Amino acid sequence: MKVLRARTLGFCPGVRRAVEAAEAAAARASESGGRGFVLGQIVHNPRVSARLTGLGMDRLDEPLDLAAGELTGAVVVIRSHGAAPEVVAGLRAAGADIVDATCPRVAANQKAAASYAARGYLVVIAGDKGHGETLGVAGHAPGAIVVSDPDEALAVPADRPVALIAQTTISESEYAAIRSALLSRRPDLADSGGVCGASRERQAAIEDFRGLVDAVVVVGGMNSANTRRLAELARSLGVPAWHVENAAGIPPELGSYASVGLSAGASTPDEDIDEAEARLLELGLSRAGSSRELTGD
Ligand code: SF4
Repeated sequence: MKVLRARTLGFCPGVRRAVEAAEAAAARASESGGRGFVLGQIVHNPRVSARLTGLGMDRLDEPLDLAAGELTGAVVVIRSHGAAPEVVAGLRAAGADIVDATCPRVAANQKAAASYAARGYLVVIAGDKGHGETLGVAGHAPGAIVVSDPDEALAVPADRPVALIAQTTISESEYAAIRSALLSRRPDLADSGGVCGASRERQAAIEDFRGLVDAVVVVGGMNSANTRRLAELARSLGVPAWHVENAAGIPPELGSYASVGLSAGASTPDEDIDEAEARLLELGLSRAGSSRELTGD
């Protein structure tokens, strides 16, 4: 039996950068005797969150209710999802020293959203309502609307030019369906670009499993939208697929499959992936003890 690792899996560059920034901020806060915070959950992964809590980084949640000067001397990290300008302004007014770890790809979308809104466009964000990234991008574009499916896209007002911006981790197929619905309303739709390349690579790596494996395991936080999407994509391959938070969630029945594809969301650290692989091997999936990467990435 074999475990095949997806050719691209786990931390994307934006998440890795944000986690490293938070670790550096924790060290800085500790040296100066000040407090450290992350705005929201740094990434949707319990292990990473727990590690940062252990380093002394507390979590701030929106809506913020901070008095002026309340965060004086505190370091506050903006995660890779970014944040709305008024949220950042509120943190500054409260005295926070901001470490902005917004992923550059997300920051580019925020900038594009602001620019379109300033030119009179209705900004439509294809993604999950209430997700940190879509809230942050919408905060840069007054009047922006988040749509989660083509039906919602068909209902947006079409009385002015529309600009479409993707949540960077939605699936290519979701984005294409929403784009197509909007194009039917506004053939002059402005499109600022779709899914992030890092998300595309992880989705494509799942597709590469087609015909090669009997089952798929996708590792990542249960509240991780991009991990959920990878698991949905895996189910569409026509083989059983599981979304597990970590090795402990891998069901024993996986021991009955001859070959299992292993993937992980963009917020899943290497340790979770390694432990999941070890657990699969423990279950006897590789009697020969072999585990190889699919294409060596
Ligand atoms: S998925 Fe892409 S845009 Fe989102 S944090 Fe990762 S690298 Fe940045």
